[in-house]
Amino acid sequence: MDVRGYVERHRGEFVAALKEWVAIPSVSADPGHHGDVRRSAEWLRDHLAATGFPTAEIWETDGMPAVFAEWPAADPGAPVVLVYGHHDVQPARAADGWHTDPFVPEERGDRLIGRGASDDKGQVLFHALGVRALLETAGASAPPVTVRMLVEGEEESGSPHFPDLLRRHRDRLACDAVVISDTTMWSADVPSMCVGMRGLTDCEISVFGPETDVHSGSFGGAVPNPARAMADLLAGLHDERGRVAVPGFYDDAAAVSDEERALIAKLPFDEAAWLRTAGSPAAAGEAGYSTLERIWVRPTAEINGMWSGHTGAGTKTIVPRSAHAKVSFRLVPGQEPARVQQGVRAFVAERVPEGLRAEVEFGGPGVRACASDLSSPVLRAARAAMEQAFGTEVLFTREGGSGPEADIADILGAPLVFLAVGLDEDRIHAPDEKVEIPLLLKGAESAAYLWERLGRQAPQAG
Ligand SMILES: [Zn+2]
Repeated sequence: MDVRGYVERHRGEFVAALKEWVAIPSVSADPGHHGDVRRSAEWLRDHLAATGFPTAEIWETDGMPAVFAEWPAADPGAPVVLVYGHHDVQPARAADGWHTDPFVPEERGDRLIGRGASDDKGQVLFHALGVRALLETAGASAPPVTVRMLVEGEEESGSPHFPDLLRRHRDRLACDAVVISDTTMWSADVPSMCVGMRGLTDCEISVFGPETDVHSGSFGGAVPNPARAMADLLAGLHDERGRVAVPGFYDDAAAVSDEERALIAKLPFDEAAWLRTAGSPAAAGEAGYSTLERIWVRPTAEINGMWSGHTGAGTKTIVPRSAHAKVSFRLVPGQEPARVQQGVRAFVAERVPEGLRAEVEFGGPGVRACASDLSSPVLRAARAAMEQAFGTEVLFTREGGSGPEADIADILGAPLVFLAVGLDEDRIHAPDEKVEIPLLLKGAESAAYLWERLGRQAPQAG
């Protein structure tokens, strides 16, 4: 029997296990469910141990527990891969609009409906099936690469203790590549790999003028107006080509490669449908880039809100005392949030006229973007593995959301590869979350082929 045959034969068992796990409401955001998050960690530890992982343990954090498992390769010189996923889930209540009980998983044909079925329990679990399939069909007792798994319990709560966990266990997590299984593909018919996620930093800008709102007849036109200064400032945030005018903004921003641009152009993107989803009659953005490039591979600045002076009913003829705006920046690989923040401060300072005072307050340190190296052998192997499983070309996408991926890559100093089979239509974080079971099986196959390929690559890699 081959890997595919094995995976398909074990579909029933796999789905039964996934249902058991999804039935544990491991909502990390809700203290009332923290006992369930722990139960979920224990369930996974036991499942991985039963799969054959010689090491499967709970790792405590100052918050919710993570699970670590390891299956060493027979050859101690073989590459080491670390699979990342999470076992906590977003909150879900029937009242949010679910048509089933979110924690009583329901199988309907090829679908499994329930909170966490796609994000991320299904995608973590396919790894157990994949490694089993590889060993059984190869008649081996150890995989061709050392497989480590780290499955955290606080991803849906912003991973507050995860960087600390990574640092504490850096030695046991050391690896040649990190495989992230927590993203989506373009569609069920167009398999793809996420190759990057943009970062983010956000701020509130305030411009202060007179000590109080003052009469526009007595003072207007003769003292600087903070609202006008803010309008000028925000209007200057982009140039006429749609580029962000913050000094140094593009200095470290990685350019998109021609290869990636060509693959993005191959995606069957329906811009009209996308615009309908946006409820916008037209697209707009940086000149020289397509819509997908604008949302995936280019950094942006967005005015999220602005307010000043009198906004209630009727008139109030004043020069307002202050003006405020919230602005956020999506970042691409290479851009350091701290440097962008410096640039934003300089941009604001330069543009505030005499007689006014400006303040810029950032929401936090920001999140760096992360991306795979498209020329790395691990990425090539992962793409080939998915192509073997799906029987068709695998394209590249990027995603908007940002999890702890940049931290993992930095702290462990290993390249990231995204191997995942979720879909945008899985309604993750929303009512009626579901997963397509055949895609999870393809995920298991892809993982098996990837370990096999990396094991074969090893001698050349030295
Ligand atoms: Zn997730």
